[in-house]
Order: sequence, then structure tokens, then C-alpha cells
Amino acid sequence: MDTKARLFAMTLDLESDFSGALHKEVTLLHQPRRAEDLLTRLKERGIPLSAFVVGELLEKFPELIELFMRYGTEFHCHSYGHDPKDTDSGAEIERARDAFVDCFGSPPLGYRAPDGRISREGITQLAANGFKFDASVFPSYYPNPFKYLFRRSQPHFYRDTQVVEIPNTPISALRIMLSLSYIKLLGIRPYLRLLRWSRLPETAVFGSHLHDFFTDAEALSRMPRFWRVVYGRNRDRGLDFLDEILDFFQAKGYSFVTMSQVYSRFVESVGSRNGEEAEKDDRRAISQNPGGGCQGIL
Ligand SMILES: [Zn+2]
Repeated sequence: MDTKARLFAMTLDLESDFSGALHKEVTLLHQPRRAEDLLTRLKERGIPLSAFVVGELLEKFPELIELFMRYGTEFHCHSYGHDPKDTDSGAEIERARDAFVDCFGSPPLGYRAPDGRISREGITQLAANGFKFDASVFPSYYPNPFKYLFRRSQPHFYRDTQVVEIPNTPISALRIMLSLSYIKLLGIRPYLRLLRWSRLPETAVFGSHLHDFFTDAEALSRMPRFWRVVYGRNRDRGLDFLDEILDFFQAKGYSFVTMSQVYSRFVESVGSRNGEEAEKDDRRAISQNPGGGCQGIL
């Protein structure tokens, strides 16, 4: 990793319910071929992927997880049950961590709460369960109007803990999120214009879901009208739009990295409250046994 370059981390939340717009019966997860289209595209471009995975999917979809692992995906936690009413309780975080350890044989470094709903108590629970960073905060209007709007948008420590927040990245004074769902909603041309006018961040965390890339008519037909309109916009353009965004950041000289690399670089840059630990964690992430599959279930 270039130690001076600005960083771009491509993230994907691996979940089953269209961010809550549908209940948990999405057929997309039964179609690994489609996920492979995305993984192949990223591999061809040399872009590492960091996936925040819902714990119960580790148990239900081992083949899908194995596919992601074959392509070198770095995994972190996205709760256990993706329940909007229980995003960061101690029990939920512990269950997510246990499912992760059962699957990968090593503890997770990072956590992203469903809908970005992380509380101070949740951060305390993350610290107690050995997590090194949280990546839940959206410093924007959505999905939690005004709650996190004025939060810092670059990595920082939470006070009195060793937990680092690596927020999702807002773009421009409008605080539009750097995520594929926003890009599809606004259209790539207006979004790129917005990016050109914006002061670009040192660290950019890009958000996406499988359903941003592949939305089928059957799933759309079952959604409430509002979400049907949202997810229907530029429905088949996800992969192409991603290419254009990656081209933009590549041309600006960004290095493409994993979330654990963002974490390590941040800890090093602040003089390391706990630098030796971070180095150990980096090694832990790298040794996530890329060819091994989910040890507890395969
Ligand atoms: Zn989610």
C-alpha cells in the first residue's frame, strides 16, 4: 500500500432483505452466478472487497460465502439477524461474533450495524467483544435523519475506547453518500458532476449491496411502491456505474484497499495508541484462511 496515497475501500453489505424493503426471502442469494459477475469484475480491476456479512447467512449460505472467499474477500460482521429493532445489543453482537468465529476460525475486526444504527452502548459492546473498528455511521440524512448528520466523516477513535469509527463517506456539502444506491437514484452523470465539485476525502468508504447490482423483476414486484421506484431506477446499470466510479477514483490517484488496511493505516497515523495490537490484527485479517471455507459448517 502506498503510504501517502488517499484510500478507497470498496464495501458490500451481504444481507438478504433489500436493506429491510423485503422480508428475508430474497432469491438473489441462491444465485451465486450473479455474485460471481461482480467478483470477477473486481478481480479483473484489482479492487479488494470488504464484505459485512449478516451472521445467519454464514450458516445458511456456505457456498455463497465460499465463493466470496475464493475471490479473496475480507469479511466483517453486519449483525447476526439484520433486525432493525436490535442492531447493536450485547446479545446480537456476541451472536454475530460467534457465528463469524465458527465460520472463519478467527475473530472479526469490524462491525457494521443494520441501518447504520450504532449507539454508544453498542460501541462499548463491540470493545468488550474484541472488535477493533465500527463502520456503521452515515454522516447524512438517511437512514437516520439528523442523528449522525454532523458526525465526523473520517476515521476517528471513540473516546475512552480502543474502537475506531470508520464512517461511510458523504460527498459534497449536500452530504450525499458515496454508495451505489445513491448513484443509481441520482444517475451517474449528476453524481459524477457532484463528485467533481466536491472536496475529495482522504479516506473514501464506498457502500453497496448485492441487490444494488442485481435487482430482478420478481423481487421488485413484491416491494412496497416507494422502494419499487427507488430500486427500479437504473436497475441494470449497477456494474457499469461501479466501473465509472472506480475509474474516477483511480484517475485521482487513490489506492484501493480493504477495511482492515484503512484501520491499520489510521492507527499508525495517529501515533498508535495501540500500534502493536493493530499490527497483530492486520496479520489476523490476512490469515483469514482464503481457501478454507466456513470451518464450522463445511
Ligand atoms: Zn444492512
